[in-house]
This record gives sequence, structure tokens and C-alpha cells, in this order.
Amino acid sequence: MTVRPDEVASIIKREIEKYEDKLKMESVGTVLQVGDGVARIYGLDDCMSNELIEFPGGVYGIALNLEEDNVGCVLLGPDSDIKEGDTVKTTGKIVEVPVGEALLGRVVNALGQPLDGKGTIATEKTLPIEGTAPNVIERQPVKEPLQTGIKAIDAMIPIGRGQRELIIGDRQTGKTAILVDTILNQKDTGVISIYVAIGQKLSTVASVIKTLENNGVMENSIVVVASASEPAPMQYIAPYSGCAMGEYFRDKGKHAVIMYDDLYKHAVAYRQVSLLLRRPPGREAFPGDIFNIHSRLLERAAKLNDELGGGSLTALPVVETQAGDYAAYIPTNVISITDGQIYLESDLFNSGVRPAISVGLSVSRVGGNAQIPAMKKVAGALRLNLAQHRELAAFAQFGSELDKSTQEQLTRGEKLIEILKQPQYEPAPVAEQVIIIYTAINGHLDDIPTGKVKDFEGKFLQFIRDKHSGIAAEIKEKKKIAEDTARNLERAITEFKQEYK
Ligand code: ATP
Ligand code: MG
Repeated sequence: MTVRPDEVASIIKREIEKYEDKLKMESVGTVLQVGDGVARIYGLDDCMSNELIEFPGGVYGIALNLEEDNVGCVLLGPDSDIKEGDTVKTTGKIVEVPVGEALLGRVVNALGQPLDGKGTIATEKTLPIEGTAPNVIERQPVKEPLQTGIKAIDAMIPIGRGQRELIIGDRQTGKTAILVDTILNQKDTGVISIYVAIGQKLSTVASVIKTLENNGVMENSIVVVASASEPAPMQYIAPYSGCAMGEYFRDKGKHAVIMYDDLYKHAVAYRQVSLLLRRPPGREAFPGDIFNIHSRLLERAAKLNDELGGGSLTALPVVETQAGDYAAYIPTNVISITDGQIYLESDLFNSGVRPAISVGLSVSRVGGNAQIPAMKKVAGALRLNLAQHRELAAFAQFGSELDKSTQEQLTRGEKLIEILKQPQYEPAPVAEQVIIIYTAINGHLDDIPTGKVKDFEGKFLQFIRDKHSGIAAEIKEKKKIAEDTARNLERAITEFKQEYK
């Protein structure tokens, strides 16, 4: 047997190559202390901020505090099996979540893992949960409407695609109801909805999911759940994960809307994480960076410019207030970050005005640009009439004699308030909203008893659908109320009123 040197050399070469393959840089450390979902680790010298750390037993954590002699890390799973002295590894990765179309129709946790028992999610791509917000050049002003189907919002507090509109109010004032109706209204718009439930009861989330399924909108929605029973770090990262899923669609030139329900609970989860990491507490015991936590999240909502595809991500954060105190720390923070707020009032809610939107306190700073002209036209008069009504109603309480024109304005206002009431799960198409508001602001409802207005509205819109469907179609197509459309509408109103009486 002869020894062939080139063969030997090639084998050695291969071995060397293989040896180098095996060589993977991995930084390991030891657990010094663990408890309350937080671990301190010694020895992770080249750990990155926000890096994913692997613990024994498949539990992951995020490195949040890089200190001189240890790393403070929050755990994304149970800490019961982690012991002092355990070896942990860095992964070299920042926390990422799967993104893509495969997530549509699914319910996932804050790491993008399925919770709905429908099997694995076949995504090809992942995105870091802390994506950077598009810069000034990459954006353009909001210009398309995001129709919620809720008359009071679409008419007076319009939301544009790419806008950030806060929904704020006490508990049980219909905050979630507005989000759900908005999702239902996206059934045929192609807008993808992402609902992030943070710190809520599982039963509440389950009923939202059920509603979405029953109304056939689940297939263009994603639900991210970090319920009250999950560790605070999972609740903390949930909105960022949901946002990354939304950014995928935004960057593909599509339109998505993301709802954070709610950011007060998110702030509380982050406060818990921070205090456990022994970061100094500030106002209301929230850490100093709580403003940044929310602003860097909400800044990721954007309308991209046309070169980048013109996609959009609209953000609808929710904040719960205590006893109507919107001047508290978290509410004021989020109000100052967003482009407007929809303020819900318990008094209105209890007196039967639902959705309980306070027209005086709610604003939308940019959405008006996105309204269709037809709506803009009727909404102007609507707003004015309601403002006058508010002013006069205060006087009318004194029971003094009112002159005829004041009386008329009061009546008009009452009908308008009635028109803006809307039951849940019945989002209205924009053309029908325009038609009924047009009818009311032009005084055609003044002689209908207030208690009958809702009944009139329902039957009138049905009448329009049955006999004058052209009117709604024209408004929808031309986006304005052309002269002959207005004439047809007037005629239809007269015709119906005769029938109705
Ligand atoms: P929480 O603070 O508990 O999250 P919330 O502010 O999200 O409450 P919802 O859960 O949306 O409020 O609504 C509270 C209740 O009011 C629910 O029972 C809901 O069905 C009812 N509700 C909400 N909006 C309307 C509406 N437009 N018409 C009738 N009922 C409504
Ligand atoms: Mg709610």
C-alpha cells in the first residue's frame, strides 16, 4: 500500500475546514440570582443590549441591563426551573418574531408562537421586534381615510391611514368596542388589522376573537395576546411584536392598522420589569424612560412615500383613565405622542349615548385631510350644529323662555345626537353615513319625535338601499355630493317621509 501525499493532504484540509465549522463564538455566563421573572448573570462579557439569552430548559430571556459586573435579564418563561449557578448562553440575536401572510387569521403570543391550536405557522421571514421608525424623508402626509364605520368618528374625528389616534376613557366605556367595530369595517377594504391584547383577562380576549370569527374578518386579522396571566416581560414586548408584524405589510405597500389594548397596562408591566431590575422609579413609580417606551412604539406607525410603495401602518392605542383623569402621567404622555384622541365619557355612556364619544374633547389633528369631500361637507355643519347645541343646552336648563330660533337649534342638536348613536357590530358604509347626516343637518328630521329617530334612520336607509341604491353608489364613486345626487336625495327623503307618516 502506497501513501499518496495529495490524498492525505486533502483529508487533513477537509478536517481543518470541518473543525473551523464547529467553532462558534458563544459567550456563556452563570446565573447569580433569579426570582420574580428577573435573572442576574455573571460573565456575559460581550452581551448586546436587548439580546436574547438562552437559559437551560429552553427558556429565553432578554438582556435589558448591562452593568459593570453582571447582566440584568428578564425571563420570557417560567423561572421555576432555573437555579443559581446554571449556565446560560448568548444567542447573538435581538428578539425577533415571525412575520408574513401566514399569520393572518391566527392568534399568537408575544413571540409569535401560535395559541389557537391550529398548528405551526409557516412563515419565511422574521423581523426584530424593535424596528426603527421610518425617517422624515421616507414618509408622506396622511391622505387616505381609515373608515371605522362609526358615524361619530368618521364624520367628526376622522382617522387617516398612517395616523396615530388614541382611544382614551374610563373602564367600561366602550373602548374595545370601537376597535372591534373598526376591524369589522375592514372586511372589504383590504386593510389588515392587528389586535394586541395586553394584560387583559383571557375571557375578554376570547370574546373579541369570537366576534371577529363570527363576522368573517379573522382571515385578515392577527391577534397577539399577552394576557394578565403571562409574565410582565411578555406583556412588555407584545406591542413591539405586533408592530413588527404590521410593519411587514406596511413595507410591502399594503395597509395595516394596529391596536394596542391597552397601553396603560403595558406601562404597568414595564414598571414592574423596571422596578425588579432596580431601575430608579420616577413619577407614579414609572421609570424615567416610559415616555420613550411609548413614543418609539407609536413612531413606527407611518404613511410611507410612494417610492417606498406608499404602504401605511395606522396605530390605535388605547389608554384607560381613572375617574376621567386624562391629566395623569401615562394619558398625558400618550396624548402628546399621538395625532389626536377619541375621548370616551362614562356619563355619556351611562346616559345612553353610545359610542360615548365626547365631541368637545376629542380631536383628530391630521385625519381631516383624508376625509372624502362629501363627508367633509356634511361633517362641517354637523360639528357646528352640535357645538351650538352644547352651548344652548346649558342655558335651556334654566327653563327660561326660549325664542323660536333657539328652540329650533336645540331640536336640531337633539336629532343629531340621536343620529350619532350606533349599536355595536353595525359599522356603516361611508355613503350611508353621508346620507343620514345630510338628512339630519338639512332639518328633515326636525319633525320626527326624538325617540323615533333611530327607527326612522333604520327604515330610511333600508328604503334607500331598496329603491334608490343609485344615490349611495354615486356618493361612493364621485366621493362628493353632486348637484343632481342632492336633488335625488331630497326627492327620496320627501317620498319616504310621506310613506313613514
Ligand atoms: P374595559 O375597560 O373593561 O376594557 P372597555 O372600555 O373596553 O372596557 P367595552 O368592553 O368595549 O369597554 O364595552 C363595555 C360594555 O359596553 C360592553 O358590554 C359592550 O357590549 C357595551 N357597549 C360598547 N359599545 C356599545 C355601543 N355602541 N352600544 C351598546 N353597547 C355598547
Ligand atoms: Mg376593553
